Amino acid sequence: MIDQNFYSIRMHASALGLHISGAERIVSAEKTDRTVSELIGRAKSKECRPDRITVAIESVGTMPRALKALDVVTLDVSETSRARLVVTDILSHLDVADSAIAQAMHWLSNGAAPSGDNMRGALIMDASTGERLEPDQTRGVRASRFDWSEEEGTLIRKKLAEQGLSHFRTSEALALASKIAHGPGVIAELCWSDDPDYTAGYVASLRTGYVRFPFLKPLGSKKGGRTVFVDPRSADIPSLIRYLETEAVLISEAGICNPAKDPGSFLAGLA
Ligand code: AMP
Repeated sequence: MIDQNFYSIRMHASALGLHISGAERIVSAEKTDRTVSELIGRAKSKECRPDRITVAIESVGTMPRALKALDVVTLDVSETSRARLVVTDILSHLDVADSAIAQAMHWLSNGAAPSGDNMRGALIMDASTGERLEPDQTRGVRASRFDWSEEEGTLIRKKLAEQGLSHFRTSEALALASKIAHGPGVIAELCWSDDPDYTAGYVASLRTGYVRFPFLKPLGSKKGGRTVFVDPRSADIPSLIRYLETEAVLISEAGICNPAKDPGSFLAGLA
């Protein structure tokens, strides 16, 4: 009998107990073997060789939820401090309070866990007060069980490459941001990486799309993270966490990848 199920495949690799690589996919039954070996290949390709690789394979039923990806635009700002001012303007347009924006930037710049380390997952923040709502402030909330459909994944990588965005991180972050933006009660997300060599970051929402900044943090900084701003009137935090962590989502329609814009014209378009 043909297996009609889709499977979530999640890989995690570590060395001496420290995380070095992780990735996940959602694929149809006949692609599970190939995908497992691709993910193991990815873990082993890291400069620091893992001493432990775990792969979890789990059925997510016959029909994952299908979502359209956010449209993408890069705003050409070459200074981190100026990029963060533009991010502040965009979030203000979305009715995120100044105090919440300042709190989010503080936690992402300094490490949001009580130890001052980065969290493995995201902060969930009340957009009107800046109050942190994630139940576990050491780990945060990790969005999981999302992927591009095979055809649209190929298409989006081509569209992104046409705009000079060929880093594998961009298509993966876009899938994650698209899932988060569709979360119940979510207003916007702010992200920059904890990889010291990767300075790009983004602000994303259903209204603005995925707005990317090449320099949202200083080169060499190991501090990064994600903040999900929620509307306290409509967000039910347990439902949002359930959606982010467990609901299987396939991004089954690529959005538009716009040429880079200057921030002034982008903000004028929002107003
Ligand atoms: P990265 O873009 O992979 O460098 O991740 C930057 C930060 O975003 C990490 O340090 C985590 O705090 C957070 N993060 C990474 N992946 C996820 C995820 N799947 N869900 C929520 N937060 C994440």
